[in-house]
Amino acid sequence: MPDAIRFCFDICCQGTVLEGASLEIIEVPGLASCCQCGTKVNLEQPFGMCDRCGSVELKIIQGEELKIKSMEIEELCA
Ligand SMILES: [Zn+2]
Repeated sequence: MPDAIRFCFDICCQGTVLEGASLEIIEVPGLASCCQCGTKVNLEQPFGMCDRCGSVELKIIQGEELKIKSMEIEELCA
């Protein structure tokens, strides 16, 4: 939910040294594997249906990651 993270980030930064900080989000496409037949299914939301057998028992294998990849900090000289 990148929008929710952006929203919280802005609120959390207000009134702190992070005010004005920018947040860059790289979205990873969702991918799930069918528990019934093993077919890989592309997901745009955290639920879905198997293309091959129609099962809704999917195991999400990619797209739920939340990693902080990098942080850039500019030192403020007093
Ligand atoms: Zn299936």
